[in-house]
Amino acid sequence: MSRGSVMVIGGSLGGLFAANLLRAHGWDVHVYERVADDLATRGAGIGTHPELFQVMRRLGITVDESIGVSVERRLCLARDGSLVLETHQPQTMSAWARIYRLLRAQLPDACYYPGIALETVEDRGGSVLARFSDGSAREADLLVGADGIRSTVRSLWRPDSVPRYAGYIAWRGVLEESAMPPDLHEAMMANYVFGLPPGEMMLCYPVPGRDDDVRPGHRGYNFVWYRPTDEATTLRELCTDSTGHCHGTSIAPPLIRPEVTRGIRQTARDLLAPNIAQVVELTVQPFFQAINDLESSCMGTGRVALLGDAAFVARPHIGAGVTKAALDAQCLADELEATGGDVPAALTRYDIQRRRFGHTVVERARWVGGYIETRGRPELARGRAMMPETPESALREVGAPLVKIAGLN
Ligand SMILES: Cc1cc2nc3c(=O)[nH]c(=O)nc-3n(C[C@H](O)[C@H](O)[C@H](O)COP(=O)(O)OP(=O)(O)OC[C@H]3O[C@@H](n4cnc5c(N)ncnc54)[C@H](O)[C@@H]3O)c2cc1C
Repeated sequence: MSRGSVMVIGGSLGGLFAANLLRAHGWDVHVYERVADDLATRGAGIGTHPELFQVMRRLGITVDESIGVSVERRLCLARDGSLVLETHQPQTMSAWARIYRLLRAQLPDACYYPGIALETVEDRGGSVLARFSDGSAREADLLVGADGIRSTVRSLWRPDSVPRYAGYIAWRGVLEESAMPPDLHEAMMANYVFGLPPGEMMLCYPVPGRDDDVRPGHRGYNFVWYRPTDEATTLRELCTDSTGHCHGTSIAPPLIRPEVTRGIRQTARDLLAPNIAQVVELTVQPFFQAINDLESSCMGTGRVALLGDAAFVARPHIGAGVTKAALDAQCLADELEATGGDVPAALTRYDIQRRRFGHTVVERARWVGGYIETRGRPELARGRAMMPETPESALREVGAPLVKIAGLN
């Protein structure tokens, strides 16, 4: 017998973790995803944590070496290509699409409604009513907002909680392993490589290739390059297409002007080790994302919950966005179980636990990225605790195990 009904808004990783865990606990779950196309075509490389794999195993997903590419060695290269520091820090690097496909395969198609966006939510006390872009209205016992950083659920329900631009962007891209010249491959492919120009941070690491292939020769080499960028002028200029239309603070990769792409390649040659610059040079379509902090004032009350990036967004330095979404979903499912399906009681407990976690990871990631933010906004540096801008700190703290972050456990 069903425990009750749940509408999950957003069919990305957070929504799929919630949907699969709640179904496993006997809830009747329906997922509404605004995007009609297959989401597996999006995303880039991600760092993982053991906690993410624990939640996946709980769903019956086999997590073996095909989940990603293992990398043991971290190197920091100076501008002239010389080795500044080498450390040993094993980590599995995966890809957004790899995790997505595994989670999506767990959920029957009959529970997943692509191309339908949530428009309004009304908590009626005994139930929650949602209206959708196809004109339909549906009622359930619980609504889970897993609709990302620009969450419709949050904007309707907690309009005071908004993302704050961190003062920098991340240039990203994935170079196919087969496109790497032999000397570049030899120097880089097995390694997690850092470049640290003043006030910036460049990371390069191997990831699964197209169709999640982790076989040597078929993988990808991912880069993420954090650069201070003024929001009012430079970011808007970067987000202006060749017709002169400004898309706000983000732009679809194919619309990035060719001169912008040429510019970032030139900057890579000017600031980074030759091997790292070559990765940027050879990547077909580098793209960028603005980096934000988001903290929600509430993650669950009554019959509405927020989860994943809809609730809290930490800067990507600790590489825990997907793991946080999985742990949010797990906590929600467990609290609903512990309260015998009493939704308001479960959400009160969920809110306390997950808001504390979200706040801790946001603070930690702000600390790691503090030197990048204050490079562009020096007035924010006074009295602020920040990670020292040293290779030792960067290699140790980026993607550090969650068990090493005080306050998370
Ligand atoms: C540069 C960068 C690097 C990163 N690196 C890592 C990493 O190494 N490791 C890691 O764990 N994480 C990383 N992350 C973070 C990670 O990508 C996110 O935290 C994670 O994908 C969050 O998933 P989510 O499901 O909560 O939100 P999202 O993936 O944003 O999904 C929200 C979904 O909701 C849908 N939606 C929105 N509005 C509506 C609506 N009204 N109705 C219906 N559907 C709607 C959207 O279409 C979307 O599919 C990185 C992020 C960035 C920017």
